[in-house]
Amino acid sequence: MSKKNNKKFIFITGGVASSLGKGLAAASIAALLERRGIKINLLKMDPYINVDPGTMSPIQHGEVFVTDDGAETDLDLGHYERFTSLTLSRDSNFTTGKVYLRVIENEREGKYLGKTVQVVPHITDEIKRRIHLAAENADLLIGEIGGTVGDIESLPFLEAIRQLSTDVGSGNVLFIHLVLLPYIAVAGEVKTKPAQHSVKELRSLGLFPQMIICRSDRDLDASVLEKLSLFCNVPKDHVFHSIDVDSIYKVPLSFHKQGLDEKIAELLGIWTGRPNISDLEQVIFNVENPVATVRIGIVGKYTDLIESYKSLDEALKHGAIANRVKLDLIYIDAEKIEELSEDAINKVFANVNGILIPGGFGKRGVEGKIRAIEHARTHKVPFFGICLGLQLAIVEFARNVVGIKDATSEEFESPGTFVIHYMAGQSRDGSKGGSMRLGAYECSLANNSLACEIYHDLKISERHRHRLEVNNDYIEKLQSAGMVISGKNDKLGLVEVIELKEHPYFIACQYHPEFKSRPYSPHPLFRTFISAAYAMASRKKA
Ligand code: GLN
Repeated sequence: MSKKNNKKFIFITGGVASSLGKGLAAASIAALLERRGIKINLLKMDPYINVDPGTMSPIQHGEVFVTDDGAETDLDLGHYERFTSLTLSRDSNFTTGKVYLRVIENEREGKYLGKTVQVVPHITDEIKRRIHLAAENADLLIGEIGGTVGDIESLPFLEAIRQLSTDVGSGNVLFIHLVLLPYIAVAGEVKTKPAQHSVKELRSLGLFPQMIICRSDRDLDASVLEKLSLFCNVPKDHVFHSIDVDSIYKVPLSFHKQGLDEKIAELLGIWTGRPNISDLEQVIFNVENPVATVRIGIVGKYTDLIESYKSLDEALKHGAIANRVKLDLIYIDAEKIEELSEDAINKVFANVNGILIPGGFGKRGVEGKIRAIEHARTHKVPFFGICLGLQLAIVEFARNVVGIKDATSEEFESPGTFVIHYMAGQSRDGSKGGSMRLGAYECSLANNSLACEIYHDLKISERHRHRLEVNNDYIEKLQSAGMVISGKNDKLGLVEVIELKEHPYFIACQYHPEFKSRPYSPHPLFRTFISAAYAMASRKKA
């Protein structure tokens, strides 16, 4: 047995169907183990061949999550960070593409001394190297393998974790298999057969899951779990249930109630006290006992609004949790409001208590977003702009207040005055990954500004993912017309936060604060935005 300090590993695989919520399960287990005082880390292994998700379509793949160190990663890393106190790095996510790239580079450099380069051992060794790297500073690593057992792509990963279990001693490794138990309406029954087959497949690869988590849309009879236990050769008290819940933040508590974290500790031979879960309970209390409803209008491209704003949706929920209100998100298709009359626009926004313009790319829908910003500014509706949202707030203000009628952004490839432009050194070529300002950058906040009041701080650090910047040539004009530049990156001389006075709440930032919000410590911008919207909702009622 290796002497790696008895480091422990949990590997989570999925069976029967994709989109079962393996990421959430991994994050929930992490939440509980961290609260037991265990030093954990998380890793997502993605079997697809793209080198990273940076250039993948958000519609197909969902949001790209950005880490402090500027990696564009799988959105599951967002769950991992939100459920724990961890700040993850690029070492917490890798793909088949990354693995092969490295192995092929090694081969080109002659590192394999002329040997035939093969999936076993070269690819599996590289996978194991990366797993150990992610486990380096932790006592326990939770590794999630993307995809579904039975996929061709995941085979090298499954083989690698099988080998790793032998390398470090099987007592230090726990395999958890997450399966779907579908309900067959005509039979009126939840079926275990697909799950049995999935476990059989795993066993044929030499992996014997010690724990099974069953996903289902309804309550399960004890007999169903017993059947699964019998057919999958897993003790009854190692079979857990994860029923669909209305709030994802209920998952850790549900696992805890079933004794899942206790069982993990027992199986891995870790002694810990009981976890302190009061913060988990407080979040659920606030979710379940709202004192009011706040309606936020999010104006974006229709396609973006569907899948690509995971962290944003969650951060807004965190803001609602902090204010103990229920959130009603209204998605407004920017293209549909472009041509509307003044009256019609007023109607669209009549019922919202706050307007948010999220990040985005490209020209489509931009004019609609600008109209939404104008409405928020002139009707004093709480406004929050993120990244593209800041850039368009500048364009709107330049056009309608400063009087630069043709103000626009260089991104939109139309003639005009570029108040937003490509910064020297940033590439315009969006087709290749890695051409953006990515990851954490420092920002100094102006004394006495709304931003400083919100953050209670003068120096902050936030994550970026964009190519364009505010054109500093127009700052003086913007400022003398009343725009406040309240956050700046001093080193690069770039605008980071803008706000307006004589408005209840109008703030926009060049970075993405949603990446750093957690239910247990909501981001101050989301907390205060929802609170301003709540105040507006109350005023309307009064
Ligand atoms: N498209 C803009 C840029 O590249 C904004 C990006 C974003 O909102 N993330 O700068």
